Amino acid sequence: MTRILNYIKGEMVPPEAGAFLPNIEPATGAPYSEVPDSDSEDVERAVAAAESAFPAWSSAPASERSRLLLRVAELIEQNLERLARAESIDTGKPIRLARSLDIPRAASNFRFFATATLHFASESHATDLRAINYTLRRPRGVAGLISPWNLPLYLMSWKIAPALATGNTAVAKPSEITPMTAYLLSELCREAGLPAGVLNIVHGTGAKAGAAITGHPRVGTISFTGGTKTGAEIGRVCAPFFKKVALELGGKNPNIIFADAGLEEVIPVSIRSSFDNQGQICLSGSRIFVERAIQKEFLERFVERAKSLVVGDPLEESTEQGALTSKAQFDKVLSYLQLAQREGGRILCGGEARPAVGGRCARGYFIRPTVITGLPVSSRVNQEEIFGPVVTVTPFDSEDEVVAYANGTPYGLAASLWTQNLSRAHRLAERIQSGTVWINCWMLRDLRVPFGGMKSSGVGREGGLEALRFFTEPRNVCIHLPANPAAGSAS
Ligand code: NAD
Repeated sequence: MTRILNYIKGEMVPPEAGAFLPNIEPATGAPYSEVPDSDSEDVERAVAAAESAFPAWSSAPASERSRLLLRVAELIEQNLERLARAESIDTGKPIRLARSLDIPRAASNFRFFATATLHFASESHATDLRAINYTLRRPRGVAGLISPWNLPLYLMSWKIAPALATGNTAVAKPSEITPMTAYLLSELCREAGLPAGVLNIVHGTGAKAGAAITGHPRVGTISFTGGTKTGAEIGRVCAPFFKKVALELGGKNPNIIFADAGLEEVIPVSIRSSFDNQGQICLSGSRIFVERAIQKEFLERFVERAKSLVVGDPLEESTEQGALTSKAQFDKVLSYLQLAQREGGRILCGGEARPAVGGRCARGYFIRPTVITGLPVSSRVNQEEIFGPVVTVTPFDSEDEVVAYANGTPYGLAASLWTQNLSRAHRLAERIQSGTVWINCWMLRDLRVPFGGMKSSGVGREGGLEALRFFTEPRNVCIHLPANPAAGSAS
């Protein structure tokens, strides 16, 4: 059984206390590797390593940091198949998705920030003829990077790449539920020749290793992606230290479909926004609102397509729906399916656990794509993030009504809007409280755009310049320009 190791000061090391946790393969429900159960001592060593690497790394030419990060990107691409397979086994996601989305995106993250930093510039402000101000942007020191289990390497690399590209060093903690690709990444970083201590990866639980990072007085920058409740706890821990914190949290995203949208395009994209990665994407459109005139046709076509999705062994090429990533998540989603019935919902398809996925997957955490109607927008199923292959469909009659529905949860991460009416699209994009609004598309990502959530979906933005700014400290330098004495005496 593979024993995952921490990556500290350039070495692969076991946790100091020697404790490991079982790592479960969700498609089978069986342990298949072991992950370090690291504690504050391991985090202390990682922080010390990151601190000692900081002076050289932060003062190295940007082109040198860029070269090394590009080398990591290359190695990810060269190991695409191995990483995709590892991600699929660790998370339960279809290997097809890991191969086409997760791993290529991890390479793109490194490539993007390795080159973005070469073009990063800061502002200058001329104050009449009296002074020139310029903004000096310097790396902040040791960054703590904490990521969730749904898109493990994709989201971890989205933090590591900008932190390192801007000259910070880092202590990263992947989710204890899906540690494998971060472990493989640490080997690739060694192969790339990343200097010891620049990146350290400490594995373990949130309560122990995660809390040791967020509570560490010498880790001044925290970038966190995960659940809203955890985000609140991290905010509470970081506030007394005045840490710079970015929190990318949960969502309960609306997918709004007007009658003038062409269902030919809406249906396949809405199937993806509902069920890709078993609905375990923070951006999943889990609340579908359909204009009443087309509700019947939409439901017929959508449910037929949802029923036809192939649920199966994530390692099979034909599989479209794999397993949920953990037993806890599986139980949580099932509890919401029961709640939906208690709240008066009608389950049009799915709703049951463990469909006939035989063979080695008989005990895996599979749930069929589920479509529910008839629930009030105020019901718990429509208000709380379920994070599984479950969507609700609700009719609406007017723009005002659907805007109120869209904005009527504590969340504000992403929204999709389908209409051919351009004026309406702009009007609603302005009114919907959401960090991202997609019009006639979903998850069309450009790495340069600001990414993040409003309300309980988070604080701060990642992506492009926002990430480069987050990981640097702006300092203003003001140079006084005294009047020219020679010019004065001449006048
Ligand atoms: P989680 O909050 O349970 O865990 C996320 C990470 O935080 C894990 O590495 C965990 O070990 C760590 N952690 C837990 N408690 C901690 C603590 N007290 N201190 C420090 N670290 C701690 O989230 P999850 O269940 O892994 O992920 C699912 C959630 O992530 C969903 O809510 C989803 O919407 C959200 N998410 C958000 C985005 C986004 O970009 N906004 C992207 C993906 C996932």
